[in-house]
Amino acid sequence: MFVGHFAAGLAGKAIEPRAPLWSMIAASQFLDWGWSGLVLAGVEHFRIDPHLPGSALALYDMPWTHSLPGALALSALGGAIARFVLGLRPRAAVVIGAVVVSHWALDLLVHRPDLLLWPGGPKVGLSLWNQPVPEEIVEIGLLAVVAPFWAFSRAAEGRRAWPAALFLAGLLGLQFVAASGAETGTPQSLAATSLAIYLLVTLAAWWLDRGPARTA
Ligand SMILES: [Zn+2]
Repeated sequence: MFVGHFAAGLAGKAIEPRAPLWSMIAASQFLDWGWSGLVLAGVEHFRIDPHLPGSALALYDMPWTHSLPGALALSALGGAIARFVLGLRPRAAVVIGAVVVSHWALDLLVHRPDLLLWPGGPKVGLSLWNQPVPEEIVEIGLLAVVAPFWAFSRAAEGRRAWPAALFLAGLLGLQFVAASGAETGTPQSLAATSLAIYLLVTLAAWWLDRGPARTA
């Protein structure tokens, strides 16, 4: 799951328009920010196996960021950062926590069984990655379902439509690049590239939301 996660961020923003979009976008990939960082630190591990269908990622060791307890802990951390660091209202912190944990639920749909249920427990995953075409349809479909709600909430704030359209086009472009075999190089280089992409999308989300909304 790649851009499908951002759909959860857009949904969070539509539900809680007073939270900045960038915080929702960062929340939707919070587990993968952690994963990229821990791969670079040598704490979590994966292999790139070009023979795998769909995603080439063989994610055999990510107990901290992609186990169910890890995801719940990161969800609580994300909510706490929203409330106590960003100073957002409690409702926003709850929505951000939910967006963080949505990452695990969406990964459950597409990953091969690599998501640990508890330490030493079974690994789960419904393996939609093994069917690349339906997987792409689900990812882009998630964006397509959520984007109108988000666009509507932006319009209600009096924000322009074209930057949002540009943002969505950019996400589709990223998905296209990711789907056309971008998973090459070493795990470390892929983790660094992933971090750079998450940062870039978060910055783009900040740009989209900058300035006060026009009030009616
Ligand atoms: Zn993930």
